[in-house]
Amino acid sequence: MIILVVEDEARLAEVLVKGLGEEGFPAEAVHTAADALARGARGGLRAVVLDLGLPDDDGQNVIAALRRRSDIPILVLTARDAVEQRVHALDHGADDYLVKPFAFEELLARLRATLRRAEPPARRRFRVGDVELVTGEPAVQVGDRSVTFSPRERALLELLVRRLDEVVPRADILRDAFGYELDPGTNLVEVHIAHVRRKLAGSRLQIENIRGYGYRAREVT
Ligand code: CA
Repeated sequence: MIILVVEDEARLAEVLVKGLGEEGFPAEAVHTAADALARGARGGLRAVVLDLGLPDDDGQNVIAALRRRSDIPILVLTARDAVEQRVHALDHGADDYLVKPFAFEELLARLRATLRRAEPPARRRFRVGDVELVTGEPAVQVGDRSVTFSPRERALLELLVRRLDEVVPRADILRDAFGYELDPGTNLVEVHIAHVRRKLAGSRLQIENIRGYGYRAREVT
């Protein structure tokens, strides 16, 4: 599965393909809308990074054509003043956009976030003490109660349980549970930890705060 870069500026396309490859995302570039559609028809794409200003056709038509075939993640690249174009692209099925010029790190962050949303982890069952959760199910079994968790509370709990007995840094929680590449500078993590703890009250699954490091889930007897 590769990332398809559709970008007519050959130099930029080359930099993106190289950079993505180095970050563990094998990528290929095409330079026209026609080639993008031809490559898209062959399949094997994990996501598309699409410049909207292509020489042979409007990138919006590429979005529409790709969307007719699949729900593949599409990240569009647009010019700074092209607000209308961005809105149109999002309305027609693009997942996110980046304004040129952008830092490669930002593209990477957006791509990772888009892929995380598009590729939910495989369904798995976790059991710690008397707490059991199944990936993708809002209800968590806590002792003999079935407790409903919000999507963020669930994501947080699942992350900590996947890494049981390990101190999970706050930055990992923000990124892996909430999708923030950068710290938004709020008490989001603390608030959700408090909610999750309340819902786990009385169970054998405990979440500890390791001050200055992060949080650790462990089973207590
Ligand atoms: Ca262009």
